[in-house]
Amino acid sequence: MRQLEILPEPPPTRDPATPWPEWPRMRRDSSSHQEGGERRWCVTTLGFEGADGRLSGLRCAEVEWVDAADGRPTPRPKAGSEFVLAADLALIAMGFAGPVRGRLLRDLGVSFDERGHVVRDANHQTAVPGVFASGDLARGASLVVHAIADGRGAFVSLTPEGRAAIVAAAPRHVEEVRRHFVDLLAPEQLDTMADIAAAVLESLQPEDQDAPAEDAPAPDAQTEDPRAERAGG
Ligand SMILES: Cc1cc2nc3c(=O)[nH]c(=O)nc-3n(C[C@H](O)[C@H](O)[C@H](O)COP(=O)(O)OP(=O)(O)OC[C@H]3O[C@@H](n4cnc5c(N)ncnc54)[C@H](O)[C@@H]3O)c2cc1C
Repeated sequence: MRQLEILPEPPPTRDPATPWPEWPRMRRDSSSHQEGGERRWCVTTLGFEGADGRLSGLRCAEVEWVDAADGRPTPRPKAGSEFVLAADLALIAMGFAGPVRGRLLRDLGVSFDERGHVVRDANHQTAVPGVFASGDLARGASLVVHAIADGRGAFVSLTPEGRAAIVAAAPRHVEEVRRHFVDLLAPEQLDTMADIAAAVLESLQPEDQDAPAEDAPAPDAQTEDPRAERAGG
């Protein structure tokens, strides 16, 4: 059993670059790791080898991390470091790799940013009019509270087309919400709600999307998901 990790090996104890209360970037060894196997760091997989649907090996290369033009650390395969690893089974456990581009997304025709997330504007509208995106799919893998907040942000920021679509899809629900909630509020209460909605929208501006949230998992969560520990599993 070999575990290939594209990131460099983290330090054995908390990296000083991630002081408390940040999530401590450090190497973590689970009980499974202690049972055996080999872990390799700074290795990327270039392709699979095999025939008739049977895997025989992985084409790999060592990588070095360099700063891209936008300053983001980027893995670059080292020239001449390619090697083939014999394998009959590959388990792909890549986190933070963006949504799966399945048929739904392909058929909708939405666009993706350079990190693989669905592109949307401040109103959560994707490149396809009438199609909105929220949660991990658009803002990136994070905590469930962020996904919930994002969904709520989408609701309060739906465009007139979006609201019309909701009325068409669930006319009774919309009518009940109006009757039991919106129509009962005084104009100043509606103004307060609008202010709250604006504040939520503000916090969900697209330029924030790439910045890691304060309590977002560290990038090395690809090897072990810190969120499970933080939220008690
Ligand atoms: C292993 C793991 C552990 C985590 N632990 C924590 C934790 O402890 N605490 C925490 O706060 N967060 C945790 N998270 C993160 C949290 O689960 C996500 O941030 C959150 O679920 C994102 O919500 P979402 O609605 O954006 O996406 P999702 O919850 O992924 O919902 C998307 C839904 O769309 C469905 N779907 C996909 N394609 C289609 C299709 N074509 N047609 C119909 N449906 C489709 C999927 O089946 C899924 O149900 C964890 C995530 C993972 C992967």
